[in-house]
Amino acid sequence: MKEKEISDFVLKHYNLQCDVYPLDSYIDRNYRLTSSDGRQYIFKISTETDSPEFLQDQNNILFTLTNTLGPERQFPHVIPTVDKKEIIQFERSGEKPLNARLLSYVEGQFLGDVEYSSEILFDLGTFLGEMDQILQEITSPHIRCRNFLWDLQNFSDIEEFISLLKDVELRRLVRYFLMQFRESVKPVLRKLKKQTIHNDANIWNLLIHNERISGIIDFGDMVSSYAINELAIAITYAIMDKNDPVDCAVEIIRGYHSSLPLKEEEIQLLYYLIAARLSTSICMSTHSEIEDPSNEYITISKKPAIELLNRWIGISPVYANNKFREACGYPMKSEVDHTILLTKRSAFISSSLSLSYDEPIRMVKAAFQYMYDDKGNTYLDCVNNICHVGHCHPCVVEAGRKQMTDLNTNTRYIYENLNQYAEKLCSTLPEKLNKVFFLNSGSDASDLALRLARTHTNRENIIVIDHAYHGNTRSAIEVSPYKYDGKGGSGPVPSTHKTLIPDTFRGVFRKDDPVAGQKYALEVDKIIQSLNQKGESIAGFICESIVGCGGQVMLPKGYLPEVYRKVREAGGICLVDEVQVGFGRVGSKFWGFELYDVVPDIVIMGKPMGNGHPLAAVVTTEQIAQSFENGMEFFSSFGGNPVSCAIGEAVLDVISEEKLQENAKETGDLIFSGLLDLKQKYPLIGDVRGSGLFLGIEFVSDFKTLKPADTETKIIVEEMKKRRILLSIDGPYHNVIKFKPPMVFSRENSIQLLENLEEVLKRFQAK
Ligand code: PMP
Repeated sequence: MKEKEISDFVLKHYNLQCDVYPLDSYIDRNYRLTSSDGRQYIFKISTETDSPEFLQDQNNILFTLTNTLGPERQFPHVIPTVDKKEIIQFERSGEKPLNARLLSYVEGQFLGDVEYSSEILFDLGTFLGEMDQILQEITSPHIRCRNFLWDLQNFSDIEEFISLLKDVELRRLVRYFLMQFRESVKPVLRKLKKQTIHNDANIWNLLIHNERISGIIDFGDMVSSYAINELAIAITYAIMDKNDPVDCAVEIIRGYHSSLPLKEEEIQLLYYLIAARLSTSICMSTHSEIEDPSNEYITISKKPAIELLNRWIGISPVYANNKFREACGYPMKSEVDHTILLTKRSAFISSSLSLSYDEPIRMVKAAFQYMYDDKGNTYLDCVNNICHVGHCHPCVVEAGRKQMTDLNTNTRYIYENLNQYAEKLCSTLPEKLNKVFFLNSGSDASDLALRLARTHTNRENIIVIDHAYHGNTRSAIEVSPYKYDGKGGSGPVPSTHKTLIPDTFRGVFRKDDPVAGQKYALEVDKIIQSLNQKGESIAGFICESIVGCGGQVMLPKGYLPEVYRKVREAGGICLVDEVQVGFGRVGSKFWGFELYDVVPDIVIMGKPMGNGHPLAAVVTTEQIAQSFENGMEFFSSFGGNPVSCAIGEAVLDVISEEKLQENAKETGDLIFSGLLDLKQKYPLIGDVRGSGLFLGIEFVSDFKTLKPADTETKIIVEEMKKRRILLSIDGPYHNVIKFKPPMVFSRENSIQLLENLEEVLKRFQAK
């Protein structure tokens, strides 16, 4: 509408001579008017969707609020036309007329334009409580029947907008909070009180004057919804761009509770409701941006909302909830005594199952690369390569949940997702690896892989790498020097033949030897030859692409091609264990063995495959699979069931949709170079190795003798835990820190890791 049209209209119907200034707005068209006597007004033209009855109810509410809380707190009120109409039709040539109103002008500065103190935040809470106390007495059928996306109770409907978000990290976060809303918020919401609420107490609708909240404008979003949503919405905007968002939220909650007491069940939802509002704001502004790219105002909150959502996931819901409860004088949720839990654990669980850390952690929730303990701490998880695409990834959870509601059976029936998943899995592998056996654990897979190799060759002997681990079944332990040579182990069985770990840092042949790989390979040949001399031959050679339990040892250049050549010459099978390193973790390649330009005959996979769901597989060649088809049925009750297949497929989809292999490369490279810098400064770091997001840092107390710094390594890991970063130790001398986080590990996480590690290393003398 042209300014002239408005000024003529206002003169005619309100008898006011005014200058007209258009204002930014989201849906309505708003104009600031300045009359010839200097008074200001707002002229508001509503959209077609707002009925005159709804607008009339709004007008009545504004009068009630003004009469009850004014003049300290101001609300716009309606100024009637010369013929006493509160709502008037604004005619447009050739189009439907729109409803318009003249409103009084509320003095003050927008909260969004000032730096606000904690006192103001407290006052904001108090003000909202006062307003809601009045609004709870007002019911209107025209407000009650409104149903729109900005009403937080409808947050689930935001789902259709998520695909509009271009940024994968953002999509992932919004989906996660949507899942939490459905799981943790919705069931509780239904039990809470509903009332009329303003529904948009954001910092561009709130006014401040003389260090107090002087009023609020724009009642166009009013709905009948859960009362707690009002507070959640106000908090969401007021804490954006703040260094201490939880502390700021606490002030608003304290204020609100002082004027309108909150229930514990309401407080408990705030953390997720805030995330829900952030998500709504991000999705809706993205949608509006596409619809109306010229309107900059509609995206005013988008950037800070994205920033806050990214930070919010790093804040433990337990911590936030405790702070919010404390603000209202409710006692902290009582913690379960760890000694009681440990006593019970030892009563029912064998002590051969170890716990990490001197003081074990009780985890209560996790999201992507973060884990939350019972005390409200957030840990950055640098250990878990099982929750590969991130803890509780919503796409994986949803795939499993959905399939579980439809069908879960076994491979004795036909169902499509078995074929589909097997095909998808094989498409990531070299062509000759095209027969899949689905199982439930890495150990299970190792066991079957050994059976396949032995059946195919009709031989028993297996060559293994020193310090390797391949699983907990008897047959897997038999090929795991890590176990059979370790504490409680009973040594190798006659069919197991151990070769040197091809470790070029502390092994027999080192980095300075350009043919170290070939020399280590020769060791395998020596075993083959000595068996031959005894009239025996090998069934196969098994190794990981990067030897994990052996201390994150990369296989040296030339090693694997040479070993595979020799093993095959001897009629043996090449087995690769990708349980730890597969599925894009090594960054530059999808499978670890691809780092060495070899193609194995049998691939063992597990851990990351199901993102924590027990899913494993053996993939092999047509010929090896055929040797197994000897009449004996192979059946695994759970292996390859429809739920597992749905989950496995979702994991593959997320890896590709979120470009997690690429992330492993970029983020891994960044960390690797940061660690090399630290190695320059801190002599305790003897070696940095690995690929992508599978790295190892080996600590030595003497660079010449390579004396393992196992005590220091333990101290470092304990210190990092105090800094809320989880790491683990491995290697034959317990002096290698393993780094293998969920693949969503970000640049920011890398910086946090490196900075903290450096702080801890400073305890040990710098070079
Ligand atoms: N192979 C390797 C290399 C492993 O690291 C593991 C588990 N740590 C396994 C096999 C056995 O897997 P699971 O624990 O799923 O049985």
